[in-house]
Amino acid sequence: MAELEGLEFGKSDFVLLDEVTMEQFMENLKLRFDKGRIYTYIGEVVVSVNPYRQMDIYGKETIEAYRGRELYENPPHLFAVSDAAYKAMKRRAKDTCIVISGESGAGKTEASKYIMQYIAAITNPSQRAEVESVKNVLLKSNCVLEAFGNAKTNRNDNSSRFGKYMDINFNFNGDPTGGHINNYLLEKSRVVQQQDGERNFHSFYQLLRGGSDEMLKSFNIQNDPAAYVYTKEGAAIAVSTSNNDRSSHKAVMNALEVIGFSKEEINSIYQILASILHLGNVQFESDGESVQIRGLDAVNLISDLTGTDKEIVSKSLLYRTVATGGGEVIEKGHTEHEACFGRDAFAKALYERLFGWIVGRINAVIEVKDYNPVLHGKNTVIGVLDIYGFEIFDNNSFEQFCINYCNEKLQQLFIELILQQEQAEYQREGITWQHINYFNNQIIVDLVEQSHKGIISILDEACLTVGKVTDTVCLDSMDTKLAQHPHYTSRKVSMVHKRPLRLHLSYSVEGFLDKNKDPLFQDFKRLMYNSANPVLKEMWPDGQLSITEVTKRPLTAATLFKNSIVALVDKLACKEPYYVRCIKPNEVKSPVLFDEARCRHQVAYLGLLENVMVRRAGFAYRQHYTRFLQRYKMTCEYTWPNHLMESDKEAVEIIITQHGFQDDVAYGQTKLFVRTPRTLFTLEQERTALI
Ligand code: ADP
Ligand code: MG
Repeated sequence: MAELEGLEFGKSDFVLLDEVTMEQFMENLKLRFDKGRIYTYIGEVVVSVNPYRQMDIYGKETIEAYRGRELYENPPHLFAVSDAAYKAMKRRAKDTCIVISGESGAGKTEASKYIMQYIAAITNPSQRAEVESVKNVLLKSNCVLEAFGNAKTNRNDNSSRFGKYMDINFNFNGDPTGGHINNYLLEKSRVVQQQDGERNFHSFYQLLRGGSDEMLKSFNIQNDPAAYVYTKEGAAIAVSTSNNDRSSHKAVMNALEVIGFSKEEINSIYQILASILHLGNVQFESDGESVQIRGLDAVNLISDLTGTDKEIVSKSLLYRTVATGGGEVIEKGHTEHEACFGRDAFAKALYERLFGWIVGRINAVIEVKDYNPVLHGKNTVIGVLDIYGFEIFDNNSFEQFCINYCNEKLQQLFIELILQQEQAEYQREGITWQHINYFNNQIIVDLVEQSHKGIISILDEACLTVGKVTDTVCLDSMDTKLAQHPHYTSRKVSMVHKRPLRLHLSYSVEGFLDKNKDPLFQDFKRLMYNSANPVLKEMWPDGQLSITEVTKRPLTAATLFKNSIVALVDKLACKEPYYVRCIKPNEVKSPVLFDEARCRHQVAYLGLLENVMVRRAGFAYRQHYTRFLQRYKMTCEYTWPNHLMESDKEAVEIIITQHGFQDDVAYGQTKLFVRTPRTLFTLEQERTALI
């Protein structure tokens, strides 16, 4: 229970609600938001509501107040869980992770940055240079990743369009020695197309508006986003001042340098961005028979910037090499439609590989090198996961399907780990564990990922079938195979799958097959592999294969994603988890509006009520004997000011018995377990009355 906060701020832990109902939950959440209390606990889980205003709660003083303290000693805060994760890592040599979830704009990325800042602030007290440099790179990497992986969307001016999991490694002193970043499913379709009111990735506007005259000249780029097809849509859209493109460009250039990118590498990064912009301006025309490129300026510029042959650039845009059944290799001209499709696929792939390469370069810098466990002690890890939450739009497509599958899986892990953690603590403390019923999400996860029978398998099968398989044919196949599944419903053009709490999601299968196949002509890969620019060449190792060597059954986008998520879940499952559940209070970025319906919806699908119930099913509350005694000894004549018992545990027993709470508690090895919140509340009131 957090101190320093009166009841006028509501309950600092949802476990303390009189009754676990949606009404009470929402009432408390709203009250706290209105009073500027954006964090509330469910046990050790932090529920956070985006304040949409600068809060004075992240400064040096606050950091000091939370440093080394227990959760209930201060008001709920991100720093308290960060410290808990850090302490577990340092004192018990446990690998821990902090999982941040919530929908777009709920405050996940901001939370992940505060967590990293906190960890950076409390480590390396002796200011050792090599540790400082690791911390610096870890912090600077955010700036680079946001430039290349974030964009303005209608829901968030600085929306992360990729999932991020960052491991921070620590030595036995508890100081950071390195790290590793994993990125997930970059939304590359944004490179070539954006919705009304949205922008392409920040990096493009930063280059166009902030690049030096010299740089722009050497790339033959105008400093005007309206001049390029890929950035035209977002050209007129201003992004809030905190994200000024010109100053951001400087910050990113500086961050790249600090991290250790060479001048050539930095130049190559921007050359690739410029090439993508020129590529978007390539137009085709057809005379009915063959397709031509309209004006060759863009092609020449691309060839210069990518260090490739002009002729081959043109040819790759107009033809594709195919192997016939007889093993013969022929060149096949594109239709105009195919040429446009190929150009856009190429642009998307260029950007995706650039992003992947940047992450890889950062990893190479922060990777822990020469670590000798004998000399340096156990190397422990804190992982921070900032990944897109459930996406529920009017029209849900392949991307939402992947993202929501990922969330179903994380939700399943959440339930399992929270229960597991409770169970482990009860066992450690020697208290009998009572089984708790909860919704097992596995059935939903299986519906998507099971081999042969799951939706991804059926999709993949359709993608591999030769001939015309349409989205609708694929849907028919799902209807047949999944007819009996309790969570699958077909409405002929949509898949509906039900979640607990009666939340329905439906997806339109239109475009599923294309997005899953995600084809890119081998000709482009070869073109890039043959680039004179070593950086570019490095990004396209698969370009060295000739058409006859190319595998006919490449892994599909859904399967690749599934594999990466399965690996992620494995990584998280072996760590001690801490959770931050973010809620977006309204759709209009207002610091005062608490949109009740929107919030209720999020509380429901995040399963927060279930979480409170699980936490309360056994013992809602627990405290170390010594701490408990310190706090409540004044409420009992036998313990005030000092007790004469053998142990603190016995003294606590006296307090409890004197108050008549003995049926509501259990005595663990080191902690007192309290079943109902009322007991602590009564004690707390007595205490307040006495001071
Ligand atoms: P998400 O990553 O969940 O999509 P962000 O972390 O990018 O959301 O937050 C969206 C915006 O909300 C931020 O750009 C910022 O303006 C505001 N915001 C989020 N968290 C906070 C916070 N703790 N304090 C102040 N503003 C915040
Ligand atoms: Mg984000």
